[in-house]
Amino acid sequence: MKIILFGPPGSGKGTQTQRLIQAYKLPKIVTGDILRAKAKTDPQLQALLGSGDLVPDEMICEMVCERLSKPDCRRGYILDGFPRTVKQAEYLREYGVEVDIMFVLKVSDRELLKRLGGRQIHEASGRVYNIHSCPPKEPGKDDETGEPLITRKDDTEKAIKHRLEVYHRATEPVVNFYQTSSIPVVIVDGEQTPGKLFSEIQALLEKN
Ligand code: AMP
Repeated sequence: MKIILFGPPGSGKGTQTQRLIQAYKLPKIVTGDILRAKAKTDPQLQALLGSGDLVPDEMICEMVCERLSKPDCRRGYILDGFPRTVKQAEYLREYGVEVDIMFVLKVSDRELLKRLGGRQIHEASGRVYNIHSCPPKEPGKDDETGEPLITRKDDTEKAIKHRLEVYHRATEPVVNFYQTSSIPVVIVDGEQTPGKLFSEIQALLEKN
């Protein structure tokens, strides 16, 4: 099962990816996580990620395709955060990668601004909290491990607004790219609870 989870920043891709990998035992390819790990030893990349701009297509495409060629991806995978431009989608197709389904999580900009503003993350697992709507049991600590939560450097008001602008301009056209292909594109309501959304995604996967 090769799945693209697509949507704007803060739409819940990370949470759904976590649930999918647990349910289907598939590897996840989360380009934001890969880049953040790389940025720890690359100040230039760190600054770019903090700004909310996208990294160059060539760089990310090579990284993703190399990852997809690994044996654990043979059974399938979850792509979260990729492709993020039409060029990246074209690259994937030229590389011979045909996904089985794409889920597009729809969430209004107003809701996204609210969610991203209070977001806290457990870096090691990808678990996502929100200080307003989904706080950890103990402030600043992950519920399962007790480890400290972080606020992403690109979750500042300025960077959030820029990321949404980049999403609408450069990333949203990818939906149309796949809608005009043979790959099923399913638009789902990302404003429902994570549990309800996951049930909907699971039901759709079983149907397809
Ligand atoms: P995310 O965690 O998915 O919000 O990604 C964080 C940042 O990583 C983005 O704002 C971009 O700077 C970069 N990034 C992640 N995925 C991609 C991609 N497919 N293409 C270009 N830049 C990306």
